[in-house]
Amino acid sequence: MLTTRIITRSLKYLTHTYKLHSLPTCHDHRKMKVNLIPLLKDNYGYLIIDESTNVGAVVDPVTPDTVLKAISDSGVKVDQVLTTHHHWDHAGGNEELNAKKPGMTFYGGDDRIGAMNKKVVHNETFSIGSMKVTCFETPCHTTGHICYLVEGEGADPAVFTGDTLFAAGCGRFFEGTAPEMYRALIEILSSLPDNTRVYCGHEYTAQNLKFAKHVEPENTAVLNMIDEVAKKREAGEPTIPTTIGQEKTFNPFMRVRESAVQKFAGCTDPVEVMREIRAAKDNFRG
Ligand SMILES: [Zn+2]
Repeated sequence: MLTTRIITRSLKYLTHTYKLHSLPTCHDHRKMKVNLIPLLKDNYGYLIIDESTNVGAVVDPVTPDTVLKAISDSGVKVDQVLTTHHHWDHAGGNEELNAKKPGMTFYGGDDRIGAMNKKVVHNETFSIGSMKVTCFETPCHTTGHICYLVEGEGADPAVFTGDTLFAAGCGRFFEGTAPEMYRALIEILSSLPDNTRVYCGHEYTAQNLKFAKHVEPENTAVLNMIDEVAKKREAGEPTIPTTIGQEKTFNPFMRVRESAVQKFAGCTDPVEVMREIRAAKDNFRG
């Protein structure tokens, strides 16, 4: 009992300490808003709001109390939960959220996701109010990873990429292969409109950019983004979102078809380049 109490208190302390790793921000997509909710040490959860119907959904609500407060502060009706993948720092709050706010629909693509009651497949769609969500299967970081594209007429699109695509980086290949990450990043996410805003699962941008500079020391988009990100982090601001168009200019994993990245990798086949630069990033101590 005592041990349980100590663990519970420690978790509460950690949550409290970490809940403001970045300032919460609100992003206007015209007809849609995305509220960024800093969680844990460097995670992000999100509240998506369809303004015409005042209906919303949350993404990866690992700390339910914080997310429930964000929902009640917004005054929006929320009964949908989008889970990107089964890792505890994304899906770990689902059961508790389900207990505290019963009746919600929990979307996901992996049977290991707690409280999941709607398993989705590639290209499956559903609605958040008047917004359309398209699910993309992007296995590699985990086998059941899903990215969610949210779009609507007159609204700027948003994609929630969990631990598949990060700002200036990508997730580790825990349960997948280079061809799978190539398909996710190049064939699926790179084909989205350049103005699609990218909301990923972690504040890893500064570290990722150090590696991007290591790969392409002369890429001015990388160097400019390093300055921009440093200013934001000094002010405690999140570096999220970026856009798909921006990612194509500074994210080495989105640039495996570029000669400068191929030169670094020592090969030209883009899938091999993906494999080589992921291995290089895994060993990078920048
Ligand atoms: Zn993960």
